[in-house]
Amino acid sequence: MQYHSTRNSKFSVDSAQAVLAGLAPDGGLYVPENLPKIDVAACLQENTLQMAARIIGALLPDIGDMETLVNRAYRGKFQTEELTPTVDTGKFTVLELFRGPTSAFKDVALCMLPQLLTAARKVKGMEEDVLILTATSGDTGKAALAGFADVPGVKICVFYPDGGVSAVQRAQMVTQEGKNVAVCAVHGNFDDAQTGVKNIFAAAENGRLPAGNRLRLSTANSINIGRLAPQITYYFKAYADLLRRGQIQMGDTVNFCVPTGNFGDILAGWLAKKLGLPVGKLICASNANNVLTDFIQTGTYDRRRPLHKTLSPSMDILVSSNLERLLYFLSGDTALVAQLMQQLNTEGSYTVPEALKAAIAEEFWAGCCDDAGAKATIAKVFKEQNYLCDTHTATAWAVAEDYVSQTGDDRPMVVLSTASAYKFPGSVLSALESVTGDDEFAQMDRLAELTGWPIPQNLEGLQQKKELHTGVIEKDAMLQFVMGL
Ligand SMILES: *Cc1c(COP(=O)(O)O)cnc(C)c1O
Repeated sequence: MQYHSTRNSKFSVDSAQAVLAGLAPDGGLYVPENLPKIDVAACLQENTLQMAARIIGALLPDIGDMETLVNRAYRGKFQTEELTPTVDTGKFTVLELFRGPTSAFKDVALCMLPQLLTAARKVKGMEEDVLILTATSGDTGKAALAGFADVPGVKICVFYPDGGVSAVQRAQMVTQEGKNVAVCAVHGNFDDAQTGVKNIFAAAENGRLPAGNRLRLSTANSINIGRLAPQITYYFKAYADLLRRGQIQMGDTVNFCVPTGNFGDILAGWLAKKLGLPVGKLICASNANNVLTDFIQTGTYDRRRPLHKTLSPSMDILVSSNLERLLYFLSGDTALVAQLMQQLNTEGSYTVPEALKAAIAEEFWAGCCDDAGAKATIAKVFKEQNYLCDTHTATAWAVAEDYVSQTGDDRPMVVLSTASAYKFPGSVLSALESVTGDDEFAQMDRLAELTGWPIPQNLEGLQQKKELHTGVIEKDAMLQFVMGL
């Protein structure tokens, strides 16, 4: 199946090449020329791994036997064989995406991506090893490390800002085992680490490190179609759960509310709808960084505003890269997308044509919720539904409530839950009681004691694990560090 750039349909590759390249040569994102057809009724009868093989295989048909790859990616790695369970809270259904090896929703995609990359490499006869380079502000780093650890033919190197990630996130990364992993702190903030990674890519020649180094560079970030495709599965899984519980009949539409940052998660929901799943409204939930709320409501995307640091840091984003794919899908106009992205780059904002704005409003609704609102929601949902949300999930829950009260739409609502409460123990605890201290590990224990909710196994005992990666370097030394791998 052919993919082309969102900005120019002449840049066309097959699905294996799209996964290997990540980004199109003109800076656009790869989109399928035509969306495949799948047998939705059959899919909804299957278990999660079969669903994943069917859906990912339909979107990425050039990569090999998808059933084998899906089994290698997921089997035995998640808390449950269904990967992403749903919980009926009595009010909304919560779709738990955080039952993977690092307790982050990114596990769903980052367990699969290494299998896709290595299989694509084989299909294309690529001989060099691949080096995955990532700068992280927290969650992506650990999920990528866990996904790529000991995968043959790949190395992974993660840079994080020294002092710029939480104690839990740091402990998760520096204790990562595996023969092919490297983790290093960088003096500076996340932007410095990110710029350092971009500079390494810029120093590369034809995607290879300089000085005859045989490693081929790639990234694990969410613009890769190999990260997006696996996320479609859990929308089908959630729908199948509602069917099985008798809460809906086949064909009934269901609304989904998604805590959104880079727009990857919610775009996967839109793709599920295009593949035939009966999805109603997709509700885009933001925190105080409400660029997307404004965009969906007004048609103007304007990133010229301060970035707020919030209690839901994975949504602290001003430029949501995957939105570019939606603009393409709904307009079918690569020249328009290229022009809008150019405008965003040079002027910091763009306004979409009225028809495109209307097409977006037809499928999406948007709202936002600040930190105080998220904390109040954590407390309320715990009290009323006896369900423990993290800050990202609480943001979505609050926006889902706003949606229902403002529109009166009473179709079943699925709220996507993207992190375990134990990934953000201080924030969650502070929503439930006033004194929290500042030792994150003590906060975890206190949260468990207070709520009776178990600490996920991968986070428990983290403090006692051996630290394997303790280096801190200057940002100018990042290329040198990578050359030594
Ligand atoms: C990455 C992330 C999000 C945002 O997902 P996008 O696909 O970037 O929109 C939300 N919550 C958590 C916990 C995340 O890690």
